[in-house]
Amino acid sequence: MARKSLKEVRNQFKKESNIFDLPVRYDDLTARQKKYVRDLYVKKQNGLCLYCNNPLSKTPVQDKYIDWSLFPEHFMKYPIHLQHNHITGMTEGAVHAYCNAVLWQYHGR
Ligand SMILES: [Zn+2]
Repeated sequence: MARKSLKEVRNQFKKESNIFDLPVRYDDLTARQKKYVRDLYVKKQNGLCLYCNNPLSKTPVQDKYIDWSLFPEHFMKYPIHLQHNHITGMTEGAVHAYCNAVLWQYHGR
């Protein structure tokens, strides 16, 4: 199956929802919308990770100890995550899966 272009996903998203502006409330998003919002942030951040500022297309420097027992089994399955603020519930940006783990374990985000 051909991968959908961002435009196609955006059009699909517009049909499903009227959310266009960032940030958005993370828990209100469907899985498809999360993917769309994540891709929007990737574009907005010029492909760089919100946390480490390195390209999201590359594996980040992994210099912090992560206790993987604290995370769900498939946490690292998707290399790019949509970071959200656990207090406000609002999306913040796109981060490496590893950086998402660092944010959570070291910064409580
Ligand atoms: Zn990163």
